[in-house]
Amino acid sequence: MRCPFCRNADSRVVDSREVDEGQVIRRRRSCSSCGRRFTTVEEAVLAVVKRSGVTEPFSRDKVVNGVRRACQGRPVDEDALQQLAHRVEESIRSGGNAEIPSHEVGLAILGPLRDLDEVAYLRFASVYRSFSSVEDFEKEIADLRTAQRTDD
Ligand SMILES: [Zn+2]
Repeated sequence: MRCPFCRNADSRVVDSREVDEGQVIRRRRSCSSCGRRFTTVEEAVLAVVKRSGVTEPFSRDKVVNGVRRACQGRPVDEDALQQLAHRVEESIRSGGNAEIPSHEVGLAILGPLRDLDEVAYLRFASVYRSFSSVEDFEKEIADLRTAQRTDD
């Protein structure tokens, strides 16, 4: 990692701390040439395998963008979307796999989104699970009602 100020290749770690419950390590470094300090972030890569077989790094932004569309006109603010993406990432990482199929990202979104906003959840689920009829919605809504009763 080169110093962002003078491009020198050598630096010394002066402090190192875990964030996000140890999923990320942040290191404070001191450049051995110009003496300035900078921070680096180290994180295990979580890869999403698309249906085509292509892999790409998991992105919270993508989760947020996908969910934001379903939340249009709903009382869901940006903070709530960020929190949801965080929960999705945590649940995926807790599975312990370095690579996950993209449809599992969708699955991991469903639970937190249901907690957040049921209308947005129905919209998202209808696309994600390719609802093809009114019956599909009816069934999903019936499941929601059952879940509400169990929550009480
Ligand atoms: Zn430097």
